[in-house]
Amino acid sequence: MDINTIREIQRPSSAEDITQWRDGYAWLAGGTWLFSEPQIATDTLIDLDQLNWLAIEPSSAGVDIAATCRIAELYRLAETGDWPAMALVQQCCNSFLASFKIWNAATIGGNICMSLPAGPMISLTVALEAIYTLHPRNAAPRDVSAVDFVTGNHANILQHGELLRSIRLPASALSKRSAFRHASLTHLGRSAALIIGTQTPGSDDLLLTITAATRQPIQLRFEHMPSAAELRRALDQRIPADGYFHDVHGSASYKRQLTHYFTEEIRAELSGTGAAA
Ligand SMILES: Cc1cc2nc3c(=O)[nH]c(=O)nc-3n(C[C@H](O)[C@H](O)[C@H](O)COP(=O)(O)OP(=O)(O)OC[C@H]3O[C@@H](n4cnc5c(N)ncnc54)[C@H](O)[C@@H]3O)c2cc1C
Repeated sequence: MDINTIREIQRPSSAEDITQWRDGYAWLAGGTWLFSEPQIATDTLIDLDQLNWLAIEPSSAGVDIAATCRIAELYRLAETGDWPAMALVQQCCNSFLASFKIWNAATIGGNICMSLPAGPMISLTVALEAIYTLHPRNAAPRDVSAVDFVTGNHANILQHGELLRSIRLPASALSKRSAFRHASLTHLGRSAALIIGTQTPGSDDLLLTITAATRQPIQLRFEHMPSAAELRRALDQRIPADGYFHDVHGSASYKRQLTHYFTEEIRAELSGTGAAA
């Protein structure tokens, strides 16, 4: 849609050119959300496209992804990458309520900075223990754990004018086994629950990442595989009944049921006792 509050579009070749930040400014990535509804408070867009950041840099240490990397580019990487947990990339891309047209424009960083409960790039990067590099205006870059970034529905730790620069997926997480579960009330609809389990090769640990069912990602780390009862107890301790996210994509009690059901399936699968093991 046309957003008629916009008076100016800036196209810097370096993010450092934007030294002063004021109310009314917004970073423009793929624009798939920005142009999808009125932006009453925004009068200037600062386009990230001319920064020309290299989208994906794989190395033996893992994979570095620029915030401006498109969903479609990341999807293609998964077709060639040989890390065991790469399967999660395509599973998470397929969890967007969006067609390939959106994939060709929407960016990984835009999805993370939107910070919606059903943001599948948040699910992916939190499950893969990513580190985000943030560039504040007029201060040194800082690194934060992906799990600490989103703080609520459409809320995160970004400060005024701060830019998400890149996402680092460490080799240690990419080399894990994984199990993925996802549900939506409607076919190709927005996620009601997206839950990922990962396990270090040769060990019986378990890292569970719960997203979409809750306002922000919740992670449960077990040094050894819990029993079904231990898992249920840990979930209830960590997420009270009113800690689930109620919206048109599912009630809180439905999302709680899904979370218990899927986490038990993941536990069984990664224990080697599930049907999919
Ligand atoms: C049909 C359709 C379906 C969708 N389905 C989903 C869905 O299932 N789940 C979901 O979460 N979203 C969904 N969206 C919303 C949106 O398209 C995605 O979240 C998308 O990934 C946003 O990325 P973008 O690059 O287009 O961001 P933009 O629209 O350009 O920006 C989104 C927001 O993030 C800020 N921003 C962007 N990049 C950065 C950065 N590097 N640093 C700091 N701030 C930044 C912008 O200022 C803006 O506030 C959907 C949208 C459409 C139109």
